[in-house]
Amino acid sequence: MSSPSIFTRILAGDIPGEILHETERVFVLRDIAPKAPVHLLVIPKTEQYANVVELAAGDPGLLAEMVEVANAMAAAAASSGQGDGDFRLIFNTGEGSGQTVFHVHAHVLAGGLSEGSLG
Ligand code: 5GP
Repeated sequence: MSSPSIFTRILAGDIPGEILHETERVFVLRDIAPKAPVHLLVIPKTEQYANVVELAAGDPGLLAEMVEVANAMAAAAASSGQGDGDFRLIFNTGEGSGQTVFHVHAHVLAGGLSEGSLG
C-alpha cells in the first residue's frame, strides 16, 4: 500500500495544517499557497479515491457532501466579510491538469474573484 497522502498526514496530526471544519467523512484545510483571498480544500477523510472521476463513480453521496461543505464554507467566509458567498469549485484531475496530490480534493476559491473568467 502507498504511503499516506499529505492530507491524511495533516488530518492525523503528523504534520501541521489548519483544519477549519470537519464532518464524519470530510474535512477542510486552508490551502498553504492560496490563489484567491479565500482558498480552501475540501477533502474526504478516506484517500481511496485519487480524483473526482473515481469518487463520482464510487461514492456520489460523498461527492455531494463535499459540494455542500464547500457551499457552507463560502457562506461562512462571506459572513465574516470575505466574498459574497459565491465561489469556484475546482477539481484538478490528472497530472496534465496540474494535480499534485492524488487524494481527491476540491479547491474552493472565493472573495475577490475576477468576473467572467477562470483566471
Ligand atoms: P492539486 O494541484 O493536487 O489540485 O492541489 C494540491 C493543493 O494542495 C495545492 O493547492 C497545494 O498548495 C496544497 N498543499 C500542498 N501541500 C500542502 C500542505 O502541506 N498544507 C496545505 N494546507 N496545503 C497543501
